[in-house]
Amino acid sequence: MQTPRLAVIIPCYNEELCIETTVRRLLEVLQMLFDKNKIASDSYLYLVDDGSADSTWEIIERLHSANPEHVKAMKFVRNYGNQKALTAGLEGVNNLGCDCCISIDADLQQDENSIEDFVDAFMDGNDVVLGVRNDRKGDSFFKKTTAVLFYKVMNLLGAKIPMNHSDYRLVSKRALDIMKLYPEKALFLRGFFHEVGLKTKIVKFNVKPRMAGESKFNFMSLMTLALNGITSFSVVPLRIIAVLGFIMFIGSILVGLETIFEKVFFNDSPNGYATAIIMLSFFGGLQLFCLGVIGEYVGQVYREVKARPRYIAEKELK
Ligand code: UDP
Ligand code: MG
Repeated sequence: MQTPRLAVIIPCYNEELCIETTVRRLLEVLQMLFDKNKIASDSYLYLVDDGSADSTWEIIERLHSANPEHVKAMKFVRNYGNQKALTAGLEGVNNLGCDCCISIDADLQQDENSIEDFVDAFMDGNDVVLGVRNDRKGDSFFKKTTAVLFYKVMNLLGAKIPMNHSDYRLVSKRALDIMKLYPEKALFLRGFFHEVGLKTKIVKFNVKPRMAGESKFNFMSLMTLALNGITSFSVVPLRIIAVLGFIMFIGSILVGLETIFEKVFFNDSPNGYATAIIMLSFFGGLQLFCLGVIGEYVGQVYREVKARPRYIAEKELK
């Protein structure tokens, strides 16, 4: 097999402080891999500006005109979020042409030296190579706990995703073509590449602190990501609700029978105002919660059925 054409996808949202260093560093990595004869000379970077409000796009335009062959880019009309930016990147490089592509964060928190391991794994015949972080030493206690909780809950609820894999991964052209067959608008990429079931390898990498600027993720955006992941890849919560309802139904019949039995044989029906109130609010709360879960799925169906475009691109530099 000849050396593959590699595309590196970089989602950027307000990354004016990082982007120039990142591009320079990644171009060095591409050059190094080319020198080692591991990738083709027309390999390139593909930056997706997720509607930045700062000067990110101006910097990208400048980097592109300095090196149009190796720096390509797309700009969204507004901020759509990291998953959409990644999806656009995957679609963009598939249109421009590549044999495999890697997505990496603009702050280079993920060790760019692992790109070589990714390419080696691809050449060994893997269609998907997942980057899994070695440890979470640099993270705060809150981030660590929520992250562990995220993977555990997701897997428990049936949205199978590998532990500690964020979106640092290589996928082959074949995987990109399969992606076209998935018309869903809110594609949860980690779940998707797992679901497809192509030959996959895990590569461990080191995590660095953010180069500059702040994390663009907050608690709400992570919750949205988790909810979308669950509702688009698992119906386990709906089943749990159904089973719960069934158990309660059986329970209430048993309690009813017991009440009749006591009334008939002992003339002693149970009383208790407090118990009634507690039961009422308990089941009221539980029902609302379950309705909320079902609502999440209805919302997912609603968004999908409208079939709005995943994102609107304003410009592409190719
Ligand atoms: N990002 C994006 N759109 C957003 C938020 C983030 O494209 O709405 C990009 C961001 O520029 C970065 C990557 O997603 O390249 C990961 O974001 P960040 O480093 O802020 O997240 P963290 O590493 O803290 O999880
Ligand atoms: Mg980061």
